[in-house]
Amino acid sequence: MTKRRTCRACGEPLAKRLGPGRRARYCSTACRRAVEYARRRWDARLRRAAALERTAARARERGPGFNPVRALLLRWEAARLRRAAGKRP
Ligand SMILES: [Zn+2]
Repeated sequence: MTKRRTCRACGEPLAKRLGPGRRARYCSTACRRAVEYARRRWDARLRRAAALERTAARARERGPGFNPVRALLLRWEAARLRRAAGKRP
């Protein structure tokens, strides 16, 4: 197993840590923030996808006036968001 010695955001080599403490994963605060931001965006996309799926499910439960095309479009949109989100950064 190789240890990661480069910044997870920009790939710059990380300076060697002197002394104890957690190994740094990012070269700078800016890089750490960038990854945190990307994660929040990822979480938001998945929450949105889940909300669309709930809306589609509720539409069916309501019975009369259920529009299967609308429900299908909601599910497609949810699937598209999940695909676009990919793996969590
Ligand atoms: Zn960096």
